[in-house]
Amino acid sequence: MTIHSAPFVTINDTTLRDGEQSAGVAFSLEERLDIASRLDALGVPELEIGIPAMGEFEREGIRAIAALGLGARLMVWSRMHRADIEAAAGLGAHLIDISVPASDQHLRSKLRQSRDWLLDQIGEHVRLARDLGFDVGVGAEDASRGDPDLLAAIAEAAQAAGARRIRFADTLGVLDPFATFDRIRALRAVTDLEIEMHAHDDLGMATANTLAAVRGGATHVNTTVNGLGERSGNAPLEEVVLGLHVCNGIETGIDLAGFPQISERVAVASGRPLPWQKSIVGEGAFTHEAGIHVDGLLKDPANYQGFDPQLVGRSHRIVLGKHSGARAVQLVMAGLGHALDDEEARSMLVRVRRFVADAKHSPSDTELLHLLRG
Ligand code: MN
Repeated sequence: MTIHSAPFVTINDTTLRDGEQSAGVAFSLEERLDIASRLDALGVPELEIGIPAMGEFEREGIRAIAALGLGARLMVWSRMHRADIEAAAGLGAHLIDISVPASDQHLRSKLRQSRDWLLDQIGEHVRLARDLGFDVGVGAEDASRGDPDLLAAIAEAAQAAGARRIRFADTLGVLDPFATFDRIRALRAVTDLEIEMHAHDDLGMATANTLAAVRGGATHVNTTVNGLGERSGNAPLEEVVLGLHVCNGIETGIDLAGFPQISERVAVASGRPLPWQKSIVGEGAFTHEAGIHVDGLLKDPANYQGFDPQLVGRSHRIVLGKHSGARAVQLVMAGLGHALDDEEARSMLVRVRRFVADAKHSPSDTELLHLLRG
């Protein structure tokens, strides 16, 4: 067991399970191995890597990741079915998440079963997984819309049967951070199990809800690279790690300096390009145009820097556009080998503004040189 001096939360990254569940996404075996290796190299301590019951191809991928001998602990996901849990045995995974319905909506309308049936089944399936050698988490699907008393009963049944963790799934992404905090704090008060937050971004609150869950007592949190996942996706790894660090002084042991490479790898492998302004990983995340901001940054980066972009392997970039000032024009043009006096810079700025209004993008170096001549 690692002793941490700062408060610590364990990231369980599910890019290779819930991330891949995003409609139309399927990684090749080579991509799965590469993504797992890169996450491990960043220091991600737990990886959820697949669903054994899906078939031999999936199990082969899980076996191959386990054979890499990574430092990360490996989790697989399973429905609460005997055959599905048995299909997960012997693949080299350490942990299994057994997903169970945690709302009356799902119990009644999806499984058409009673609460008593559910609690009985949890005991039986957790014991089976323990007998197969797994550390066991019980995944409380749709917990956010479920009765807190039902969730407490699920936790109790899970712990009694030997589970170590309960996953609180906001399956449909309907909570806000205040409700998340209240629900996790209430769960924390009735169980000793590890609590793992599983957030979805349907209302754009997955990261906020994940941080709120940690404040409420969650010990583990699920993330995906770039927020890949079903519908609007899961809580992005990069946002959660940075958010915990910057806002709460909570460490994860993950070094994101090498993150741009895996972000790009997952964007390509998933066929989901990143939006330009996406926080942390988007091309525009550290790009500055406005004259006041550029001037302030040049005087002292701390003027307009909430955190050092080098933490995530990035750096500030200054581009010219409608909101640039003459000083930024001189700076950028000097970088291209052209020293402009104040009058030349002002004249150049007029041309840059006209260019951006027509082209709808910042001028490239080549375009700037063209504008200078024109
Ligand atoms: Mn999910």
